[in-house]
Amino acid sequence: LHVPAHPDLGPKPQLGYVDSAIERVAERRGDHAWLEAAQADAGARAYVLGGEHIVLNKQGEALDPAFPLAQARALGKAAELVFLGLMQGAPRFGYGLDAATAAALKARPDLVVLDLRTIAAQGLVNAQHLPPLAEAKALLNWHARHRFCANCGAATRVSQGGWRRDCPACKAEHFPRTDPVVIMLAVDGDRCVLGRAARFVPNMWSCLAGFVEPGESVEDAVRREVREEVGLACGRVRYFASQPWPFPASLMIGCHAEARSTEIVVDRGELEDARWFDRAEVAAMLLRQHPQGLTTPPPVAIAHHIIRAWVEGEVDG
Ligand SMILES: [Zn+2]
Repeated sequence: LHVPAHPDLGPKPQLGYVDSAIERVAERRGDHAWLEAAQADAGARAYVLGGEHIVLNKQGEALDPAFPLAQARALGKAAELVFLGLMQGAPRFGYGLDAATAAALKARPDLVVLDLRTIAAQGLVNAQHLPPLAEAKALLNWHARHRFCANCGAATRVSQGGWRRDCPACKAEHFPRTDPVVIMLAVDGDRCVLGRAARFVPNMWSCLAGFVEPGESVEDAVRREVREEVGLACGRVRYFASQPWPFPASLMIGCHAEARSTEIVVDRGELEDARWFDRAEVAAMLLRQHPQGLTTPPPVAIAHHIIRAWVEGEVDG
């Protein structure tokens, strides 16, 4: 396989969960009458979720994740109904079932129940549905885990169309959280560091990643994670792109980092392995032409795009 210095890998694939067509119209969230009317709108649709389960409507060969509200209600009692926003002017909701109820719908011949990773990676629904599915999943997961006040322990009440929980006892207001994660490619000229976690599918190697900690900048988090996981010092850190990652509620912040040392010491508690890869080898992995069958994550994940941008010479080493 001949790979030029900066190979052209062809048309860029689409990153998942980004470029949402949802207008969130946050100013409507406190308007109870408007939200009631939105539920009654003939164009209103709901994404039906329970834990990791996403419920899809079979429409011939196609799978439709957006249910008319009456149909969603017929699937089971909602733990929460959250307002996601407007898509092409029509209200979109997240309808949260408990996980067992959603799983039991697998028995229905007119429905398909799958996890969101599978739906996204295999392109099983129209891509415009991925951002609102991510929004609904992250938000409904937060509600499922935050039913009680973190300040006083009292049961809290949903408000703002699902975008806040209020404590009736101590009056604290609780907002849905997003957890920032740095995901980065450490590079040294014509080579980069990829790692493997034990949970990865066989032969897949990816960027290093970790949660940003309190009191830490994105750049500092990138340098700390690279140092902790593979023992390398990094200098300049450059932001590349971001992606919501609703497993359960992360924001992936993609970066490239300039390695300033070369000896890799793998933290075996975090990673199964990590090593340097040269540009030609990584290009073969992205093209799924690697002689040993090594691969990168699929295009739905930001790691694919971070790695690809470096291979294609769009970022400096
Ligand atoms: Zn309270």
